[in-house]
Amino acid sequence: MDAAQEVKSKLDVADIVGEYLTLKPAGSGSFKALCPFHQEKTPSFYVNRPRQSWHCFGCDKGGDLISFVMAMEGTEFREALEHLATKAGIQLPTFDPQKSGERKRLLEVNDLASKFFRATLLASPDAEHARAYAAKRHIDDLTGDLFRIGYAPQSWDALTTALKSKGVTDEEMLKAGLVAKSDRGPGVYDRFRDRLMFSIQDVHGNVVGFTGRLLAADAKEAKYVNTPETVVYRKSAVLYGLDKAKGDIKRQDLAVVVEGNMDVVSSHRAGITNVICSSGTALTEEQLKLVSRFTKNLAIAFDADAAGGAATLRGLDLARSQDFNVKLITLPPEAGKDPDDAVTKDPDLWRRAIADATDVMDWVFRNAFKNRSLSNPEDKKRIAAGILPEIRRIADPIVRDHWVKKLASGLSVGEDALREALRKSGTGNREPGTVSKQARPTSGSPFPAPGSRFPDRVRDLSEQVLAILLKRPELRSTVEMDLTGMLPADLSTLYTDLESAYTLAEQKDLVDILVIRGDRDYQDQTPATLERELKNAISLLHEHVKTSARRQIEEDMRQAELMGDRDRILQLTQRFKELTS
Ligand SMILES: [Zn+2]
Repeated sequence: MDAAQEVKSKLDVADIVGEYLTLKPAGSGSFKALCPFHQEKTPSFYVNRPRQSWHCFGCDKGGDLISFVMAMEGTEFREALEHLATKAGIQLPTFDPQKSGERKRLLEVNDLASKFFRATLLASPDAEHARAYAAKRHIDDLTGDLFRIGYAPQSWDALTTALKSKGVTDEEMLKAGLVAKSDRGPGVYDRFRDRLMFSIQDVHGNVVGFTGRLLAADAKEAKYVNTPETVVYRKSAVLYGLDKAKGDIKRQDLAVVVEGNMDVVSSHRAGITNVICSSGTALTEEQLKLVSRFTKNLAIAFDADAAGGAATLRGLDLARSQDFNVKLITLPPEAGKDPDDAVTKDPDLWRRAIADATDVMDWVFRNAFKNRSLSNPEDKKRIAAGILPEIRRIADPIVRDHWVKKLASGLSVGEDALREALRKSGTGNREPGTVSKQARPTSGSPFPAPGSRFPDRVRDLSEQVLAILLKRPELRSTVEMDLTGMLPADLSTLYTDLESAYTLAEQKDLVDILVIRGDRDYQDQTPATLERELKNAISLLHEHVKTSARRQIEEDMRQAELMGDRDRILQLTQRFKELTS
């Protein structure tokens, strides 16, 4: 038995979830609760004890007790497992002792360096100008301690000497990125000199690297120097301030993203504690994944006039395609040039700007309509061309619909025209008259090809059928129709071998969701009602599959006619007849 299985055999999913949420009974071995991962007023989060699994029908998250702890605590698999193993009283074997040993050592070395920088800032006689600078930036002792802000002195070996006295080797300092190899002969020298040092901490508060801000105004060196990529520091995977902000990000269900470290530090000092920064680059996929454990709502401080503005906006595409709700914060002119400025002037200026954040689509609309005339049809076309691609990027169909309606009314054109334009531009560059091979059903299966109409409804009805049958397998004998060709492939496999559904390992996630769905929808129903529900679902499913197959044939027929492909027309006519007879 591996460690994960051992943990799962000793702990119960309902007990673990119950430590975080208030569970209400929902039938035998089943519980429901308000989902902690999305906003809702009625529970769609279900836990099933016999299956040892959970699923939310609102946001579609689900899994076992380990994935639940990962999502709740915002941790990786290994850490969640460790957390649960401690609870279960199990000793975990280490994965790769050498690698985890090196990681641990580098975190120690970074921690020692961070302490050295902090102590230097607080007490060194050489740090007088650094203390003056910190005071000017309102970095008080409390804030400095919290963010572990320090000073690297004007020296080639101050840190090196200090770390050596603590038993750190040159090799370890090199691996931590704190020093560089000397060009002249052996030895190493301090990478950071005469700089205000910001400790970069991972989501758990470990110091993984540093950003050093130059203090001398006239020096020729770069204003900022960062730790290079190391075993413990990857720029694209860290969000500055997240270790301190994660709690409030979750509570407020909103992460405020700013550009600079000082924007984060000042916000926290002013009590605005859900603020993080991505260190000057557009948010990466890894960073988004990290944030998504705490919220799906981002408000991004955004300077439309700055050179970085356009890049920021491009970076938002990734967030939106991953189903984040993104708002843009624009600072009013009186607030200064960045959030740090605003907080210094008056924290309420920054607070209000966050509260007034506008939906990124509002910004897109305002920009597209700017300087264009609605009485000019060409301008209307240009406006639509600017906005439609943005609408297509929205993952949620309901939100997408909202903006189509808004654009239609803004342009005074019909929604149908826009929807057609949206569809056309969405199907890629297919030339009229050519037939895409993929669009052709390859077999005689009436099941719609991927991407054709009604697949969602078909999927939904198919899952309904399986949910009922998993609840009452004996109803299988009442099904008169052959469903195997109608159901999506994964559900069809399940249907043909219903008896082993409960034990098949590879279908476990699917079966979990279906069983929990059965609990949700059919908990207190009599066998007679269930049979009726099943018949009903099957006949609806049959109708939908037929309709979509018919539409597919009609579409193929039009293409075949354009091509003058007579054989194909005959073949399709025959299929059409079979289907409608
Ligand atoms: Zn949910």
